Amino acid sequence: MQPEMENGRRAVDQLCAKIQERGRRTPFSFPEYIALTAKFPERIFRNIFQMFYDMIHSYIDVGVDEYPDDPESINYVPYDSSRLFEQGTDRPFFGDRLFVNRLLGHISSFRRGIRQNRIYIFEGPHGCGKSTFLNNVLMKFEKYAETEEGSSFETVWRLNRKLLGNGTDPTAKYLVEQLRNIVNHSTRGEQDPAPGPSAAGKEHLEIACPSHDNPLLLIPKTYRRDFFDELIPNKDFKHKLFSHKQYEWVFKDSPCTICQSLYNALLDILDSPSKVFEMIYARRYLFNRRLGIGISVFNPGDRIHRMHAVSDDHIQNHLNAILMDGNRVKYLYSRYANTNNGIYAIMDIKGHNKERFANLHGIISEGVHKVDCIEENVNSLFFAVMNPEDRENISDTQSFTDRITYVKIPYVLDFNTEIKIYKNIFGNQIRKYFLPMVLENFAKIIISSRLNPQSAAMAEWIPDPGQYRIYCDRNLLLLKMDIYAGIIPSWLSEEDRKNFTAKRRRRIIAESESEGDRGFTGRDSIRMFNEFFQAYSKKDKPITMAMLNLYFKKHCCAGGPIPEDFPDALSGLYDYTVLQEVKESLYYYNEDHISRQIQNYLFAVNFEIGQTQKCHYTNDELKITEELFETIEQKVLGHRSTRDKRKAFRKEVQNIYASKTLAQEILIEGKSVCETHLYQSLYDRYVHNLKENVLDPFLKNDNFRSGVKDYATESFKTYDKRIREDVALLMRNLNTRYGYSENSAKEVCLYVIDNDLAKKFAEH
Ligand SMILES: [Zn+2]
Repeated sequence: MQPEMENGRRAVDQLCAKIQERGRRTPFSFPEYIALTAKFPERIFRNIFQMFYDMIHSYIDVGVDEYPDDPESINYVPYDSSRLFEQGTDRPFFGDRLFVNRLLGHISSFRRGIRQNRIYIFEGPHGCGKSTFLNNVLMKFEKYAETEEGSSFETVWRLNRKLLGNGTDPTAKYLVEQLRNIVNHSTRGEQDPAPGPSAAGKEHLEIACPSHDNPLLLIPKTYRRDFFDELIPNKDFKHKLFSHKQYEWVFKDSPCTICQSLYNALLDILDSPSKVFEMIYARRYLFNRRLGIGISVFNPGDRIHRMHAVSDDHIQNHLNAILMDGNRVKYLYSRYANTNNGIYAIMDIKGHNKERFANLHGIISEGVHKVDCIEENVNSLFFAVMNPEDRENISDTQSFTDRITYVKIPYVLDFNTEIKIYKNIFGNQIRKYFLPMVLENFAKIIISSRLNPQSAAMAEWIPDPGQYRIYCDRNLLLLKMDIYAGIIPSWLSEEDRKNFTAKRRRRIIAESESEGDRGFTGRDSIRMFNEFFQAYSKKDKPITMAMLNLYFKKHCCAGGPIPEDFPDALSGLYDYTVLQEVKESLYYYNEDHISRQIQNYLFAVNFEIGQTQKCHYTNDELKITEELFETIEQKVLGHRSTRDKRKAFRKEVQNIYASKTLAQEILIEGKSVCETHLYQSLYDRYVHNLKENVLDPFLKNDNFRSGVKDYATESFKTYDKRIREDVALLMRNLNTRYGYSENSAKEVCLYVIDNDLAKKFAEH
């Protein structure tokens, strides 16, 4: 027995050494706390709003702005909120770009220090994930409060019986014994700051502030400014503390009535402020939702306690005994004290929560709550989640509507986030089963059902959507979806791009607040994706647009959730995009070669045909022939340019070269030939034509089509070298630039050829 016993003891000792919770709870003396304040002022001077702001920002990473030099930017940037909403949660929440930007917009006021007499109602339709959102955020807040960075402190009194003269009043002792058996003080949890049964015999009576006051509030208001002025070495912070609105509370807020009256009583008895401050301690404020410490979350079924005031006869008797007076300090507070400097949340405004919500009126408007005859300050972060149809449940609280801030949580409106949801449920590998862009297009069809069919903001910006009919639906929903995802599509005209001002952007983004409350719900879309994926995913054949259109056909009746012209427009945009991809992939972009040809041309136009000259710019030996001119002119002017047109062009180039390019730009301004206007303009036209017409020779060649089909098979080797090289280049580029697999690259090339897409878009 003996050795086993010892092993057991050692194991427990080791365990205890590792358990640090207690250590984190060890109170600091007031001077220790003040030293900490001087060292980490940013952390200590923080109320619940500032802490919540810091928490959110510590879990959110700012992504890369896609258009950093855009002068009309409204800072609608991508944020990575996965650490806040997804990681380590029982059920992830997926906030799209619109929502995260909206949330951060609201929260920015928490640091600006506008007095937060408000309740934030997160409002969204069934199945938008609003409860999950709030649960996850509260969970991350608890976690944050456990870290060093997220630490905050609350007041604990350690009343020294000896210093106070008499702590063993026989009456009190008797009462305590009796009360121990009678009083049920189970309203608080196991971390109850109330003294345990043995406290009567201890040197100290420890009482924690039920309102979780920051200990700094015990410094009398009149002395606070001077005190912090001397204390804080960080000049920058001090400037903020004394001048920013967000720190007004440091000089204005009072401690709770219990702390205040204790302070006064002790000062009377001890007659020495220093002795009073010796009894003030600071300990970590550890939020715990389950125990209702600092965070309370109420469900509609939770009954409301009829007893507003909480008292504790046990503690009251100790206090009376130790202070030798029954009226000095009333140990009395309300249930709202628990979430002072904390978070009070209502899940759904129905059932008992209707009354609970109505009861908040006075507290939110005044920041004060009456408990018997005592006025209690309540500075809490008030949250609620609500379905839009429950608005009627708060209609009789009209007078308090100006205290409500609605934060919309609609269904996802950003296709990237919609895809993230499918991936979360069906696995990351789903993308492999789709041709590139087709998965995005599935999400876009779902989202099209959630948007307002008409958009005043888009119509004001682009009055004639007809010009985009080959890439976009007439209501410009496809364009709007791109904007919501942070993309400005390249097919926009120069003029519309220029007119896409910050004001218009704000207006368009603001429209999202009235969208996403209709159409396919989150659950619908998952069910549909599942059905679609089961039906069409095959190992050897990627999912195509044709399959997508087939599947959605049944949902595309008139008056259905999907706008009638949307699927066709989506296919149009798809066709246009894949055609561009194939062209870009075929186009052999040899900048050096093009640049050399243009420099040689600019040099050669100054000489008669038949001569041989060494080009000053490239050092190439040039035989000036009609053929030399023709090769380059065809590239710049197009294949169909006539001989006369080419000759006229050559003469014009020679004129500009002599009068401006050489005389002005090169000789006077000191530019190199490649920096001149003439060179740039020829270069651009050359490249443009090269790309536009890149497909022409291939489309006429039947061998090219079969070469694509036979690529990477045994028979591919039988094709001539030129075809093999071109097809291989195309396949390689489609893979590296646009993420096509070998299989899907073949598929999309045949699609482009067989549907004659080059012809379809020839005039655009
Ligand atoms: Zn207090």
